[in-house]
This record gives sequence, structure tokens and C-alpha cells, in this order.
Amino acid sequence: MAHVEPAHLVELALRNAAPTEADTAALRHVEQCARCGDELRMLTRVVAAARTAQLVDLPTAPPDRVWQRISRGLSPETDTHGPPPHHPDHWKRALLALLALATAVGAAVVHRRLHERSR
Ligand SMILES: [Zn+2]
Repeated sequence: MAHVEPAHLVELALRNAAPTEADTAALRHVEQCARCGDELRMLTRVVAAARTAQLVDLPTAPPDRVWQRISRGLSPETDTHGPPPHHPDHWKRALLALLALATAVGAAVVHRRLHERSR
């Protein structure tokens, strides 16, 4: 079996859905492949860190207008009432999750490229 695709490794690390047949086959490969095993372990750590991340973990708190723009962009119907009275927590969590996912995918791609170059 070929190496597991980085996107599939991210899905395996997220473990959001019930495992499919493809997941089982991929995990079987990961068990026997040091390269895919390393990548899955790294992604699992990133996902675990992202899930426990708090806004205070960011180096600096994003300015209020950033959150207002995000929540306005995601729910245009609130735009007519001006900026929300407080920043809803779930937007922050969603943004953190997206940042973590982007980081995880980016790291997996870079990791794979480095491996391919060294062969
Ligand atoms: Zn592999």
C-alpha cells in the first residue's frame, strides 16, 4: 500500500467520524510504516494541543475589531444591528480550530516534502 495521504492522516488525527474501511487500512499501514507513524503522531499532538488551546495561549490577543469582522463575515444578518455586544466564544474556538487545522496540514505537507527530498 502507498503511504497515507497527509489529508487522510489529518482526518485520522482528528478522529471526528467513525472509522471507515479506508481508515482501518490506513491505520494498518501506519503501524508498519515509520514515516506515516511519525506523521500521525505529530498530527495527533497538534490536534490535542489545538483542542486544549485557549485564547490566552495566543502571543497577543487579537483586537476586538478582528472578532467583530469575523462574526460579521460569518453571520451577515447580525450586520444590521452593528457590532455584537460581546465576542461569542464559539467564533474564537472555531478560528482556533481552523488555525490548528491549517497548521497541521501545512506541517504534514512540509514534513512529506522534506522526506521526499532526502530520498
Ligand atoms: Zn507510509
